[in-house]
Amino acid sequence: MAAAAATTPHSLLLRRPTTTPAAPRAAAATTPSLLHLPARSARISCAAVAAPSASSPVAAAGDRGIYNFAAGPATLPLSVLQRAQAELVDYRGSGMSIMEMSHRGKEFDAAIKKAEADLRALLAVPDTHAVLFLQGGATTQFAAVPLNLCAGPSDPADFVVSGSWSDKAFKEAKKYSAASVAWSGKDGKYTALPPFDAIKQNPEARFLHICSNETIHGVEFKDYPEPRNKSGILVADMSSNFCSKPVDVSRFGVIYAGAQKNVGPSGVTIAIVRKDLIGNAQPITPVMLDFKTHADNASLYNTPPCFAIYICGLVFEDLLAQGGLPEVEKKNAHKAGILYDTIDASGGYYICPVEKSVRSLMNVPFTLAKGPDFEKQFIAEAAKEGMVQLKGHRSVGGVRASIYNAMPLAGVEKLVAFMKDFQARNP
Ligand code: PMP
Repeated sequence: MAAAAATTPHSLLLRRPTTTPAAPRAAAATTPSLLHLPARSARISCAAVAAPSASSPVAAAGDRGIYNFAAGPATLPLSVLQRAQAELVDYRGSGMSIMEMSHRGKEFDAAIKKAEADLRALLAVPDTHAVLFLQGGATTQFAAVPLNLCAGPSDPADFVVSGSWSDKAFKEAKKYSAASVAWSGKDGKYTALPPFDAIKQNPEARFLHICSNETIHGVEFKDYPEPRNKSGILVADMSSNFCSKPVDVSRFGVIYAGAQKNVGPSGVTIAIVRKDLIGNAQPITPVMLDFKTHADNASLYNTPPCFAIYICGLVFEDLLAQGGLPEVEKKNAHKAGILYDTIDASGGYYICPVEKSVRSLMNVPFTLAKGPDFEKQFIAEAAKEGMVQLKGHRSVGGVRASIYNAMPLAGVEKLVAFMKDFQARNP
């Protein structure tokens, strides 16, 4: 892999940026012992293993020989994984892992409270809003939102359908509300967003729903429409750009997000809900989908996804240590900028179909003008260079680079160097 990189005109960028192993499979043989704790965990006392902090040299130095451009589950900060690894077997001197202890014990109680406090600090969540750690993925919220906000199936709700995910949310909501499409980007193949006055809002709607970032189509809201319904409720599926930039939470009735893109592993879904919207669920609402169940029980009504919540907590700490979301947004804008610039400067070799003003900072879809065979070759060669999971979603094809918070700048630099090199070699 390194040899292949060295033969290309962009070999400096294509070369792995640090003193890390030459090939991903070789990693286990050459990396420091911290990196293979699981295999040896039975013989290592974790009390003796210092947990690397977000800023520790171990965390800062290494990558894993691979840049993972997956759309989700997606790459997590290496420092977070190393810290979790160091704490896995013996969580902070408790003699057990956080997966093995009661969710009502003092250790987990402290972990979930700290996770919530740090998330509140990151997003400046006002006291008017509850933070809930839920299960069932963002998909479950497609049903939970109308069940909690609409009085019954004849209650109207407005949906901006800007891609596959908001379309799914709309279709699910139709079962529990009189959901209708206030604007659809389908005719334009989901490459644009509406001017806000083109959203045909029903004043009787219980809420206006948007997907703030369409993971498959790469369309991202840069600002949010004012809800024109009587109760002024805007709901956003923020699964794929949650905590990637500051957001004025007070503008939203409900924000929900599956964790597995920007803030943690799959298994936990975070909902931020305006408190006055809690407690009005339809009578048919399953207890687990009623926001009140979780709000009244501090997200501990039943056994929560403890490990996933713990990892989210470590990610929140890491984001705060980076300087919070304004800093994170700057980094994300820079990473996305060099990728879109490369596409736009390629003379039509690479094509991003999304209208420039709404291009996602998180998911960058593009095609190759030379067609699907070259896309396949591009994806296969990139994988050989250690850049994996670049295949576009099966519904749209092409290439997609997901560059969430935890994708290092070096990963994007390596990708753009590869893109230039691929173009030079395959004119
Ligand atoms: N909304 C968006 C924007 C998504 O990207 C996804 C998952 N890719 C979902 C909803 C569904 O999330 P989950 O798999 O957590 O149900």
